[in-house]
Amino acid sequence: MVAMQIPAPGAALRRIERPIPDPGPGELLIEVAACGVCRTDLHVLDGEISAHYPIIPGHEIVGRVAARGTDVEGFAIGQRVGVPWLGHTCDICSYCRAGRENLCDAPLFTGATRDGGYASHAIADARYCFDLPDCFSDVEAAPLLCAGLIGWRALRLAGPANVIGLYGFGAAAHILAQVARHQQRTVYAFTRYGDTAGQDFARSLGCAWAGGSSEKPPALLDAALIFAPAGELVPRALRSVKKGGRVICAGIHMSDIPSFPYADLWEERQILSVANLTREDGTSFFELIGGMELHIVTQSFPLDQANQALQSLREGKVKGAAVLVPPIPTA
Ligand SMILES: [Zn+2]
Ligand SMILES: [Zn+2]
Repeated sequence: MVAMQIPAPGAALRRIERPIPDPGPGELLIEVAACGVCRTDLHVLDGEISAHYPIIPGHEIVGRVAARGTDVEGFAIGQRVGVPWLGHTCDICSYCRAGRENLCDAPLFTGATRDGGYASHAIADARYCFDLPDCFSDVEAAPLLCAGLIGWRALRLAGPANVIGLYGFGAAAHILAQVARHQQRTVYAFTRYGDTAGQDFARSLGCAWAGGSSEKPPALLDAALIFAPAGELVPRALRSVKKGGRVICAGIHMSDIPSFPYADLWEERQILSVANLTREDGTSFFELIGGMELHIVTQSFPLDQANQALQSLREGKVKGAAVLVPPIPTA
């Protein structure tokens, strides 16, 4: 198999080759067809979140089952599957037992603490893999597995909010804007200052308004979802939500949040973070989007251009979601 591996925090990815592994009990060997590039991969690359190095990143894996370990139920050889960020949980900690496996005390995360999908092949715990709706191509389905799924969890935390603001209009927001529109909500998009292309993109996907993150939206928000890793957006979003409104931070890492007057939080405004996902988030999300028209915009890169893909994401140059495509197997 071939893979792009991060040798140590801060070091560029390098191409490696190794024998194709055998799946252990409960595991699937997956031939990777596409793997999304997520901002979290940049945080792994930069050593900003805890990961085990060397690591093959990538937690938006779409592929086909090539082999099954013992004790695998429900997956056939050749079946298309998706592998998300949550790669394993302990089943016994208080969070797992309370149905909050996203907060498990002993989890494994795909592409951070177990090898991920920047590769021709990947091993995954079958219990955390998803069957995917047929209406999406492999490349389109990849960003659903984190950008879509974690975005969905963030949207659920927003509750019955009618007016939603999305801060940072990348892979997650471009999917979530459409989901929120499908649910009859009004969506405003906040981009980097002067990013008129991003604002046009947002309006083309049904956003009622798009502007810079320091601009005033046409109406106050019921909830703000922050996808950009910039802590200064938190007090800014807080000033744009109504009484009782929520500001939801959907990323795994953010720069420090500047201090702000308590008056901005007063009147039961809330700030929440979203951590990981549960398998139930996945099943409910895929059920919902399987029945709606979703336009997924991707930019594909060959697997060996993973460094370039990450750099494009870092510079904000990717429209929609970046997706890596491994070489077609020769044998
Ligand atoms: Zn647990
Ligand atoms: Zn991700």
